This record gives sequence, C-alpha cells and structure tokens, in this order.
Amino acid sequence: MIKVVVSGAAGRMGGTVCEAVEAAEDMELVAKADPALGVELAEGLSGADVAVDFTTPDTALANARACLEAGVHAVIGTTGFDLDALREFAERSEANCFVAPNFAIGAVLLMEAAQSIARQMPECEIVELHHDRKLDAPSGTAKRTAELIRAAGGNVHEPIHSLRLPGLVAHQEVVFGGEGQTLTLRHDSIDRSSFMPGVLLAVRRVGDLPDSCTVGLEKLL
Ligand code: NAP
Repeated sequence: MIKVVVSGAAGRMGGTVCEAVEAAEDMELVAKADPALGVELAEGLSGADVAVDFTTPDTALANARACLEAGVHAVIGTTGFDLDALREFAERSEANCFVAPNFAIGAVLLMEAAQSIARQMPECEIVELHHDRKLDAPSGTAKRTAELIRAAGGNVHEPIHSLRLPGLVAHQEVVFGGEGQTLTLRHDSIDRSSFMPGVLLAVRRVGDLPDSCTVGLEKLL
C-alpha cells in the first residue's frame, strides 16, 4: 500500500484527489492537510510515502521542500510557482518530486500534437480558459505548451490569452495560422475527474523515477 497525504485537501482539486486515493486499491489516504481542516502538512508527513500537493502558488514551493526534507516523494499539481527553485532544491534531495502543469491525458496529447504541427505551421496563438477562482495567469499548462512549441521551432505570439469565467473548468486552444488556412487544437477538462488517472499514475511512479525532479505527464506515458 502506498501511504498518501493530500495537501490542499479541502480545495477543489485536493478534495477530488482524496476521493480518488480512497478508491484506489493500492493506496491509503493517511492525512488530509489544509488550513480549512486545521491540519498542517508537517503533521501528515511522518506516516506518508507520497504527498500530493494542489494548493496555491505561494505555498507550493515551501510544501514541496518540507516533503523532500522529510524524505517523502512529492507529486505537485499546483501551478504558478518557481519551478527552477524547486529543481535546485530537489537535486540535493534523496526523495523525488514529480510536477505536472496538467494531469489530463487529453491536454498532454494536445501538447504533443502542437509540437508536431509547429514544425510545419510555426505561427500560433494560445488561448486558455479557466474558472474564475484560478489564481495564476497565464495557466501553467499554457506556459508549458508555449515552451514545448517554441522548442519544436514554433512561434507562439505574445501574449497568451487568459479567460476567467464562472462555468469553465480548464480549457485550452492552440490556433495555428498559415497561408490561406488555420488549424485549431482544443482540449476541455469538463470535470476534475479528468486529472485523476494522471495523478494516481504519478503517485505510483514518483518513487522510482531516475531524476529527482521530473516535469510533465508525458514522461510517465
Ligand atoms: P483551491 O480550491 O483554492 O484549493 C487550494 C486549497 O489549498 C485551499 O483549500 C487552500 O486553503 C489550501 N491551502 C493553502 N495553503 C495551504 C498549505 N500551506 N497547506 C495545505 N493546504 C493549503 O484550488 P484548486 O482549484 O483546487 O487548484 C489548486 C491548484 O491546482 C492551483 O494551482 C491550480 O492551478 C492547480 N491545478 C492543477 C491541475 C493539474 O492538472 N496540474 C489541474 C487543476 C488545477 P485556503 O483556501 O484556506 O487558502
């Protein structure tokens, strides 16, 4: 059994992760950390193998450091924090961390398709659409998509467009433009359950990863 602590357990994503971990036959939910529950992450770390973090941009880095210092592997879904600082810290750590700006398989496939298209149609724009409680903009998924498209030779126009509206969950379009034509990729997470198979896969794999800091769900597929 993999013993899991969920950080941000009272939040939208954290609550869904708690349900998914409880339903997984090979996992045990040992602690739910969140200010709203009166439980600090440090309290849950002693009995855990893996911590899953879906909190806020300003707490994710400190949480990840606390996990790694305690020898607990960290699976981080929080976006909008300094990934380079985490990489630097993780290099000196015995425990591993895994970070994915998007745990939905469809979003990962969109990123792969976007890289392939960019080699032939480099000019593109990204539009990301999220619920109106999201704290960071542009989204971590959009920033990662832009990074991958640019590495494949594409020209992502600035700025990335961010829409925040009630009714949305997590959505992204990449629109490519060429001579007399456009090509649009779109992914929609219409329910937070879309992220759960990816989160559970990361919980199962994080301890065995060859690098102390791995970024992107595509690395596990
Ligand atoms: P949310 O509903 O606001 O949940 C965040 C929760 O974390 C809140 O209950 C918050 O409590 C709690 N929290 C704050 N500081 C904490 C700490 N130090 N320790 C433990 N818990 C703490 O947000 P959400 O919609 O679930 O999103 C969470 C994060 O996941 C965001 O960064 C979002 O962008 C990201 N996300 C990632 C993916 C992905 O696939 N990677 C998918 C969706 C969302 P308070 O309200 O008291 O501050």
